[in-house]
Amino acid sequence: MKVIIADQINEKGIKELEDVADVVVNTSITQEELIKEIKDFDAIIVRSRTKVTRAVIEAAEKLKIIARAGVGVDNVDMAAATEKGIMVVNAPESTSITVAEHTMGLIMALIRKISIADKSVKEGRWEKSKFMGIELNGKTLGIIGLGRIGTQVSIRAKAFGMEILVYDPYVTEEAGAEIGVRVVDLEYLLKNSDVMTIHVPLTPETKHLISKKEFEMMKENAFIVNCARGGIINEDDLYEALKNNIIGGAGLDVFETEPPKDSPLLTLDNIVVTPHIAASTKEAQRDAAIIVANEVKKVFMG
Ligand code: NAD
Repeated sequence: MKVIIADQINEKGIKELEDVADVVVNTSITQEELIKEIKDFDAIIVRSRTKVTRAVIEAAEKLKIIARAGVGVDNVDMAAATEKGIMVVNAPESTSITVAEHTMGLIMALIRKISIADKSVKEGRWEKSKFMGIELNGKTLGIIGLGRIGTQVSIRAKAFGMEILVYDPYVTEEAGAEIGVRVVDLEYLLKNSDVMTIHVPLTPETKHLISKKEFEMMKENAFIVNCARGGIINEDDLYEALKNNIIGGAGLDVFETEPPKDSPLLTLDNIVVTPHIAASTKEAQRDAAIIVANEVKKVFMG
């Protein structure tokens, strides 16, 4: 059996596979090269760089499994894989805690103005009164999407003394109550949360879920964080809301276009941004690699 690892994954995953297969690691392979070479492989492992397009899938002659060492399968043409009966797997559970921790990090950076204070001190200033923050204790966190990551965020936010509201049409009030959160409708959440955080997938239903109308419902000093996918927040409307102080601030790990080169959002002080790194910890990447390696092994061993 032959496996091609087309994006960088943790060593431990590669070692797992070497026990059962002939492993080729080529993390700089281009689309054209992949289309030529894929016919020799039984499995391909990718992260985000490599796109497993219809052209790649159609050129495959014995491919049995496409594995994405991460959450989501946005870079795999699912329809083409299904037509050819090729299994597609990922490792959605591997990054939940890591993304939840990053979410808490962005929340803390926002409410305590950490990144602008850091910049100010490094530029030689000592502006103590400019950086008055707020506590999380006693505040309300609105979680939009109570899946794996949203649940981990709720556990951490409760440890900070926050009340938790949840909007997730697929979670019942009873299920919420069991883990100590209140399931409400979106409007109630927007009107009553001090901080909001998004943990839904990007779907036609969630595209621009948070736009002008939703910003206008929020509390004047509300903060919003998005570590899910760009496009769930309407960025033009977010810019207006931040610039006109309709809300207090935003923390973004994801953007409608990545990188967000000329986005006016980057000119604002009340926004904290990171380059889609919410899932980037050694632990999460190790777990993702091991999980997908085991999935590939299972297929090889029948
Ligand atoms: P999940 O599938 O476990 O949870 C998603 C939740 O969203 C589910 O509970 C679902 O019921 C809910 N949901 C679906 N549609 C909804 C809607 N219209 N309104 C409200 N809730 C809705 O997924 P997860 O593992 O928690 O991940 C959440 C998202 O985080 C992923 O879809 C992915 O886009 C993103 N993510 C980002 C990074 C990153 O690097 N920034 C890393 C991992 C995941």
